[in-house]
Amino acid sequence: MIRCKIEHLEERARQRGKTLAEVTPCIVERNDDHIVVDPMHEAYPRSQELPPGALERMKNFASASAQHIAAGMPRASDEEIARRFDICQVCEFFDGKSCTKCGCGISRDAKHLSKLAWSDQSCPVGKWGKVIG
Ligand code: SF4
Repeated sequence: MIRCKIEHLEERARQRGKTLAEVTPCIVERNDDHIVVDPMHEAYPRSQELPPGALERMKNFASASAQHIAAGMPRASDEEIARRFDICQVCEFFDGKSCTKCGCGISRDAKHLSKLAWSDQSCPVGKWGKVIG
């Protein structure tokens, strides 16, 4: 389940040529403008781009891990993880669980094996960058 603001879902729907009304069935809970969305629901506006295959994902993860270790394993702050997560939530390459560009899992919770939590990592299309210092 994904927790976000309804404006994030609307933006995500718009990016995929859909209206908020068309994707509303994937909302399972609503409290004012905060919603909980089921990314597995057929109405969820997911990316049409196929994610990289297993081999490509392993290569990407090995490369990101090597870079992270070489940088001294710097961890992003909770605020930075949340900021990156919010950007991914409305990204056209986010399929509800992972990034279809690099294949990495996108989660606010998986802090240790998530690239969102590694301050030396960056978005593959430049939507968020490394945190230096
Ligand atoms: S890492 Fe970048 S490209 Fe991938 S889902 Fe997040 S914002 Fe989009």
